Amino acid sequence: MHRIVNVHTNTIHRASENPVAQRTTCGALRHVPSHHVERLGEDGPPADASRCGRCFDDAGGY
Ligand SMILES: [Zn+2]
Repeated sequence: MHRIVNVHTNTIHRASENPVAQRTTCGALRHVPSHHVERLGEDGPPADASRCGRCFDDAGGY
């Protein structure tokens, strides 16, 4: 599973399995410019980033 982050809003999303159709599972970044979107590497997400509740079912659990 790949994660991508909207660096503009500092929100992490789950990368879509069909990136041609949409970048994220929830489709939230469809209209976000590509320079606002980065794929997360092994370093993990920024400490202050929040997770998209539609991409991560457990986002509200902590
Ligand atoms: Zn999302």
